[in-house]
Amino acid sequence: MSPSLRKTIAIARETPASSKGSYPGQPTGLTNFSGFLPWKRLGFILEPTYKPIATAVALQARGLRSRAKMCSAQLWLRFRAFFPCGLGREPARRSSSRKRFADRLLVSLLWSIFAGLPTQAGLIKAGRPEPIEAAELQKSSPDSPRFKEGVASLPNVVLLMVDGVRWQEIFHGPDPIIDSSTNESNIFKNIFPRLDKTAFLSGDHKKGDANTVSNKVMLSLPAYQSIMAGKTTDCRNNFCGRIELETLPERIQRELRLKKTAVATIASWSKISVAVEHLKGRTFVNAGLQPILEGVMNSTTLELNKKQGEDLPPWSARKDEYTFSHALNYLKNNKPRFLFISLNDSDEFAHRGEYPKYISTLKGYDEKIKTLLATLDGMGEYGRATSVIITTDHGRGDAENWTHHGSDNPESKYIWIYGRNPLLTDPKQKAKELSTPSRYTHLDIRPTIETLMGLTPIRCDRCGKLIQELIPDPMLH
Ligand SMILES: [Zn+2]
Repeated sequence: MSPSLRKTIAIARETPASSKGSYPGQPTGLTNFSGFLPWKRLGFILEPTYKPIATAVALQARGLRSRAKMCSAQLWLRFRAFFPCGLGREPARRSSSRKRFADRLLVSLLWSIFAGLPTQAGLIKAGRPEPIEAAELQKSSPDSPRFKEGVASLPNVVLLMVDGVRWQEIFHGPDPIIDSSTNESNIFKNIFPRLDKTAFLSGDHKKGDANTVSNKVMLSLPAYQSIMAGKTTDCRNNFCGRIELETLPERIQRELRLKKTAVATIASWSKISVAVEHLKGRTFVNAGLQPILEGVMNSTTLELNKKQGEDLPPWSARKDEYTFSHALNYLKNNKPRFLFISLNDSDEFAHRGEYPKYISTLKGYDEKIKTLLATLDGMGEYGRATSVIITTDHGRGDAENWTHHGSDNPESKYIWIYGRNPLLTDPKQKAKELSTPSRYTHLDIRPTIETLMGLTPIRCDRCGKLIQELIPDPMLH
C-alpha cells in the first residue's frame, strides 16, 4: 500500500471517529437516505457506494485534491474493481473472482429493482401519510383478538441503552472540574427515589464498583455487538459491519417462536441495525431515520414518521426525542416481548465538547426513564411482567478528557447498570448477600435477559454470568 493511500485511510478513519460514522459538516440525513428512497432495496445496495463517495467529497473539501487521494479508503477497498481511481497505472485486468463479484452485484441490483417493487409502493405511501381508516385502527387495536394472540403475561424485557453516559454524572451529578459553575449533585432525580425493592443500580466506581465493557477498544459498535452476541466479537471499530453470530433478539424470536414484531429494536443511530441481527429482517429493527411501517401503527406513528424527517439533529442520526416517542408508542401498541431502545444524543454532544447540552440530555434521559417506568406501570399485567435494564455502551475519559472514549482513555471502560424487575422482593438485600461491590460486564446482560425470559442462558468459555440482583430467587434454582 502506498504511503499516500495509507495516509488517506488514516484520515478517513480518524475523521468520523468522534461521531460514529459521520464527519463534521456532513449534510444531515445523507447517510440515511436509503430510508427515504422509494426504492428501499436499491438504497440498500447503493449504501456501500455512497458512503465512500461522501468520504471522498470530504477529503476533497480538505484540500486533498489529487486523484489518488480522492479515492478514499473505503472506495478503494470495496470497489477497486470498478473504480480504479487512477493511481497512475492502468487498472489490472479483472481476475475471475472479480468477474464473479461483478456478476453477483449485477444480479443483486436487478433483483433489488424488481423484487423491491411492493416495498417501493409501501414506502411511497409512507412518505405521504394518509389518515388511517377507522376499520384499520379497529383491526389493529391492542384490544382486538388478533393482537391478544401470543401476548399473555409471559416475562418481557425492555433494554434501554444511552450512548456514552459516564458513571460520574449518574452517581455524582455534573462534574465541577469540567463545569465550575455547577453545584448540582444529582441529575437522575427520578431514578434514585425509585430504587425501591424492585430495582438496583450499580457502577459507582468511587465506591469500588467495577462494571466494565467487554471489548478492548471502548467504542460503540464493538460494545453493542458484544452485548447482543453475549461474547466479545472481532469488531474493533464502528465500521466493522454486520455481526456474524446469532444475536440475543434473534435467539429470543427463534426459540420462543415469536412473530417478528414481538422482538423489536428502535434506535437513533442507524448502525445499531448491524449489531442486533446477523440475518437481516428476522426481528423488527427501526434505526436511524427509517419510518416505522410495521406492527400495530396509529396516527402517532405516522406523525412521528413525518416529524423525524423534518427535524434533523446536526449529526447523522435521528433525534432521541423521536426515537423514544416511537419506542414508547410501539411499546403500547405492540406489547413486544423484547424491546431494545437505543439513544444517542448524549455521545454526540459529548464528542462536541458541549457539556451543558450533554447534562441537559442526561436530564432528559431521566425524564424518559420515568415516563417508561410509569408507562409500564400503567400497562397492567404486561407491565408487571416486564423487567427493565438500562446501561451505557462505554464511559468517557476523566476530567478534561471527558469528551473522548476509547483505548487512549482506559477509564472509559467503566459502565453502570440499572435494573428493575417488578417480581423482585428485595434486590438490595440480595446485593448485600452477594459479594459486593459489583463486578458486572456487558457480557452479563445477555444471559440475564435470557434467564428472565425463560431461556437457558448462553454458555461458552468467556460468556458472562447472571446479574443475580435482577433474577427472582425461584429462577436461580
Ligand atoms: Zn458510544
